[in-house]
Amino acid sequence: MKQNININTDDKKNSPSILVATLGATWQVIPEIFAALDPDKCNLYKEHDTPECFHNIQQLSDTYSIDELWIITSQSKNTQKGIEQIQLWCSGLKKPVSLRVLIAAETDQVTSAKELDHIRELIFRSVLKATEIGNVICSLAGGRKTMSADLQRAASIFGTQGLLHIVAPEPLPDSLKCNDYIFWNRPLTPEDAKLLLPAWIGRYNRREILDTYWNNLPPIHSKRFPLSLSNTELNYFHTDSISLVDEVSERERDAQKLLGNYLAFLAESERHENWRHLYRLPPRLIEDLRTTSLDERFKPLIQAIPKAELHCHLGGIPDLDTQIKIGHAIWKGMTKQEQSYALETIYPLMQKKSIWDWNWPSTYIPRNLAPIDRSKISAALLVNVDRSDLELNLFDVTQPRVGLIHQTKGFSAYERPGELTGSAVLGHPLAIPCYIQAINDYVDNENIAYLELRGSPHKYSNAPIGWLKAFRDQLKDSDTRMFRFIWILDRRASNTKEIINEAMSAFADEALRNFIVGFDLAGDESQSSPHELASAFLPIFEACIPVTIHAGEGQTPENIWQAAYNLNADRIGHGLTLAEKPSLLTRFRNKGICLELCPTSNIEVIGFYDPLNSNTSSYSKYPLKSLWDQGISLTINTDNPGISNSGLSDEYLLASRLSGGISLWDTLAIIKQGYVHSMIDTALREVVLKRYDKEIFDIISNYKTTRKFE
Ligand SMILES: [Zn+2]
Repeated sequence: MKQNININTDDKKNSPSILVATLGATWQVIPEIFAALDPDKCNLYKEHDTPECFHNIQQLSDTYSIDELWIITSQSKNTQKGIEQIQLWCSGLKKPVSLRVLIAAETDQVTSAKELDHIRELIFRSVLKATEIGNVICSLAGGRKTMSADLQRAASIFGTQGLLHIVAPEPLPDSLKCNDYIFWNRPLTPEDAKLLLPAWIGRYNRREILDTYWNNLPPIHSKRFPLSLSNTELNYFHTDSISLVDEVSERERDAQKLLGNYLAFLAESERHENWRHLYRLPPRLIEDLRTTSLDERFKPLIQAIPKAELHCHLGGIPDLDTQIKIGHAIWKGMTKQEQSYALETIYPLMQKKSIWDWNWPSTYIPRNLAPIDRSKISAALLVNVDRSDLELNLFDVTQPRVGLIHQTKGFSAYERPGELTGSAVLGHPLAIPCYIQAINDYVDNENIAYLELRGSPHKYSNAPIGWLKAFRDQLKDSDTRMFRFIWILDRRASNTKEIINEAMSAFADEALRNFIVGFDLAGDESQSSPHELASAFLPIFEACIPVTIHAGEGQTPENIWQAAYNLNADRIGHGLTLAEKPSLLTRFRNKGICLELCPTSNIEVIGFYDPLNSNTSSYSKYPLKSLWDQGISLTINTDNPGISNSGLSDEYLLASRLSGGISLWDTLAIIKQGYVHSMIDTALREVVLKRYDKEIFDIISNYKTTRKFE
């Protein structure tokens, strides 16, 4: 058996619609109710004067055809005759329907207590089984009043798309007592038809009390309450030693305690608290979320959920097409003279299909050049070199992008696709609107409600604070989007103190107060270790500014230790080697220091095993799930979506694949971590968390569950 959360209505449509009805002496009630739901198979009401009353119940029960008809009845002589008529009537339907007849063996008029119990048990088991197979409609027309009452109770406990009745005058005119099955396959006369009216009683969800452990018994499932279901012969039900009716009644009595027990069990078994509202979901849905792994089927669900991303480099957002657009924006603003000078400079790279010398960035757009001049040369390349040659020299030469730091080109191969973005173009004011557009497109496509971008304004301008203000003015928050900024210090920088001073002025600037939220150390870890920078970081510590540090990305846990102890990191970028130092792992868990994991980037830089990528077969398992199960706070991010050709939703899917499956429940809890560990002020964070708590609850509770048998 497989349990799925439906993420679209197609799944639901594939389940059969089952009409469950009890039957007494009058078999004609079966065509009457059947035709009310499925006029294509039996057009009894063609001449009815108020056809809308039938459309109405079809709509209310979301049922427009019946695939299976289940008849529950006793073994009396009368009902046996009725069954024969129903079988004949079924064979005359315009399209076939699967008929299953369930008979309470050795019962007759259903008047003794024993008979009542017997048939009640059969009704309960039938409705339970039907709800596990398909979408169930129950009919109250037919059989003794006690049988109708039992069916109604079963429907309200196990759930039904609709509980219906057919109202008819009493006494019934002779014409509607016709015993000829052919009569019931043709339209009734208008006079007869108008005497019959469908009545909608209600729709019920499966009760939560069925879906928790109770007295050491597992949730209610038909496996424990067998029922034979042949559609070629009659199914005789004999009582056995177990009673579904009794267990359900006792569960109802213990209802309050049961739900409390379930929540206590959940609280005990999990190390990360999920969105608070989600604990209000029915236990069955929670169990489905806990036992279903995130995979491609759920991409629309992950996309629909408003997410937070905490580790995303400004320079890594544009893909090649966007980079070219940005290049054109700059190019158009250049004078003819500037254009021809830039063209002259890049002339050696213009030869078609040539592979550029690996060090071309430091030759043509060296970092000591003024930002505005770098942007003009970058634009010249982006506009005048064939797209295919750009792709070759920015992306293709770094393939396969797996474990790049172990290859000869090292970390620079990871960064290569971003050589013409970020600081290479952001020095030009005309690049900014295009860049902002790319950021907005990215968050819209991925439904990112909260994005912490990180970048190095001192690389984009000689007046970095002015640059950051201009950037902030154009990157606007909206009702559904929040942007914050983290200032990055590059490990390769020689003027560390100066950069930190510049950043400190930005933190002190009133106009940037609600925008710049933290400080980061990035770049090739082999260049310098965190403790060498401890004294330079003092102003940041003094001003109590949140800190995140790129560490443990292929380097030893010693670097992570230094980031935590020498640089007071609140978060760690990557931190993939944390588990190699168990005492540090424990410390991280206790202090709630959060890891920012970036699955695609981590494969590209360090290399991890991905079952769908043959280049990764020699690499070890991604540590995300193991860290998560040990209680480490962590988030999922892209690092550089344009460079890695990835998106945030795909990163969640990849994380699950690399981990051998992450449950949907844990996925939601990881999404929550993105907000919990954001660098915004606690008061605002609480507001944001509450808002998305409610929104995510609404999204999840709208995904109906079904249980399917294979
Ligand atoms: Zn990074």
